[in-house]
Amino acid sequence: MHIVMDDYGRKLKGLRLSLTARCNLSCFYCHGEGQAEGEGELSLKEIDRLAENFARIGVDNVKLTGGEPLLRDEISSIAKSFTTRGIETGITTNGTLLLERIEGLVEAGVSRINVNLPSVEPRIYEMVTGRDMCTKVIEGCRRAREGGLDVKFNVVVLRGLNDGIEHATKMLEIARASKFNIQFIELEAPSNQTESGFYARHHVSLNEIENWLSGIAVERTKKEALHNTSIYILEDGTKVEIVSPMGNPEFCNRCTRLRITASGKIKPCLFLPAGQSIRELLDDFPRFKAVVEGAWLQRKPYFR
Ligand code: SAM
Repeated sequence: MHIVMDDYGRKLKGLRLSLTARCNLSCFYCHGEGQAEGEGELSLKEIDRLAENFARIGVDNVKLTGGEPLLRDEISSIAKSFTTRGIETGITTNGTLLLERIEGLVEAGVSRINVNLPSVEPRIYEMVTGRDMCTKVIEGCRRAREGGLDVKFNVVVLRGLNDGIEHATKMLEIARASKFNIQFIELEAPSNQTESGFYARHHVSLNEIENWLSGIAVERTKKEALHNTSIYILEDGTKVEIVSPMGNPEFCNRCTRLRITASGKIKPCLFLPAGQSIRELLDDFPRFKAVVEGAWLQRKPYFR
């Protein structure tokens, strides 16, 4: 095993691999994983080589993301490149194509999906995403759960749209009925944009939701791996996570994840620019590893 470690003692264990910058929704708050459309996407064969190289470095989990990863027709084969190497594989998706793709994903051994669901109310969902697909997404989530996948809703909380307790209660009802978990996510912006009008208009603290949760949960734990977020566990076992990155000095402390853009560029952190491409290095493991190591060393906790 060829271990890669940064100056803060954080070992490279996970990948966040974008499969495409394309998306079929237009969520107005979306940071797009900090990548632009238009560059050639890694092919299935290239992704398979990439999975092999990262397995040698000791990566044991991957999150496939985008853009919208389920737009890739070969999504199941892509997932298999990781699962067959013992890499735990999850997908972050908007869920609009789950009904079409779920059979292949189950067969490929995908274990979890995070589904971007700003609301379970079709009217609010459409205002945020630009499309009337709320019902289809929830149905896709149910099918995924029946197939044995863990399903978690990603709810980016937006002032005046989905930030009330009444709204959160509705989300929770749907989640509990089908055994989904939820994470409420604070709207995130690069540190140089927190003064912007957009941020001021839409950002809201998660304190109110967190206070409400602490009143109805039977237990609170911390997810120490990765982002040190709080998890509230309800009586029936439903888990509700609070993800508050802004101004949180602990958020990046345990980050062990490297980002790769859809065209194979390394992005050491969401808020660092995409750097060197590893596309040309896939058949040269020593150089591949050296470049990955160089990028890994650039990472510094965001709120220090
Ligand atoms: N298309 C997929 C989706 O909708 O989940 C994957 C890409 S999307 C960029 C990944 C996740 O980023 C979304 O699920 C959403 O929770 C999160 N996200 C996007 N923009 C964000 C923002 N400005 N602040 C916080 N989270 C954001």
